[in-house]
Amino acid sequence: MKHRILPILLALALLLSACNLLPEAGAKPRAVSESSIWAMDTQMDLRLYGDAEGACMQRLTALLNELDHTLSATAEDSDLTALNRSGWTDNPHILRLAEEALAVSEETGGALDVTLLPVSRAWGFSTGSYGVVPAAELEALRDNVGMDKLTLQPGVGLSIPAGTALDFGALAKGYAADLCRAELEEADCAGILSLGGNIQTVGTKPDGSDWVIGVQDPDDPGHYLLTLGLTGSRAAVTSGDYQRYFMEDGVRYCHIIDPGTLAPVRGSLRAVTVIADSGLRADALSTALFVLGREAGEALRRSRGDFETVWIEADGRVWVSPGLAERVLEGSYEVTQP
Ligand code: AMP
Ligand code: MG
Repeated sequence: MKHRILPILLALALLLSACNLLPEAGAKPRAVSESSIWAMDTQMDLRLYGDAEGACMQRLTALLNELDHTLSATAEDSDLTALNRSGWTDNPHILRLAEEALAVSEETGGALDVTLLPVSRAWGFSTGSYGVVPAAELEALRDNVGMDKLTLQPGVGLSIPAGTALDFGALAKGYAADLCRAELEEADCAGILSLGGNIQTVGTKPDGSDWVIGVQDPDDPGHYLLTLGLTGSRAAVTSGDYQRYFMEDGVRYCHIIDPGTLAPVRGSLRAVTVIADSGLRADALSTALFVLGREAGEALRRSRGDFETVWIEADGRVWVSPGLAERVLEGSYEVTQP
């Protein structure tokens, strides 16, 4: 018997996973503005501080709507859909995303692959008709998949062959967070943004206190397993099996696809959070590290040294990279190997 989660349950899970901003502690400062918008297929919660916070909020909303319109893999009139149909684009946002995707794919042995759109669709993600895909059907899709399908001339154009279709869902929100951060820094605004599973902090809070962010419990996303205190402008991006998934015969099939098997990732990992200076890099890495798992992911972290990690395993254990341990405010955890 097939079990499909009711759309209402999925909607609830998405809503909970999106409500990521912890309430402001103590009295609310005067120049603070909060707003929630729906863009890039997720709820985005923005909280800004500073004298120009009203104008900044307008600029951020316009920017996020523009990126939504450019990068949607489902909208008929997006620049990405135009690329997927015509095979060529010179859109600068898409060129930048392709450049980063190629770099992180290389770094992670192909764990990040932005050509999986037809595979995700076959499993029902984005169409809503979820179901296990027969192996033969997956193999038939393989010819159109692989990062070697991208021909990028940086700053000039990107081409892909007919039959290949790109989806930047793994890194677009991180890119959006970087652009929002640049806008806010230029206007001397501080803030904290929750773009779906992506948290971006910008600058320093008016009272000088740390930004407090929560790492969700995959079994109860309204509850935090860990809270962390971050300073300055940082990106904290989570990829998890609880954000989008369907259940069939008691098995959970999540939205992150293993490029090796062309099937949803299955393993002992429930979620990974990557913390880095760049939102784009943190987002690309979060998805790739979810595919790689903790052991290979930590080996990469040790060799690169430019990001920190939180791992939530199916056995309930929480692992934190050594550089992040001193940032934990609440919650129990173990520390990974330095
Ligand atoms: P994230 O939530 O950032 O981990 O991104 C997950 C999204 O990226 C999915 O909803 C798909 O649109 C896409 N995706 C799934 N698997 C992969 C993968 N292995 N590499 C790149 N993108 C992927
Ligand atoms: Mg990601």
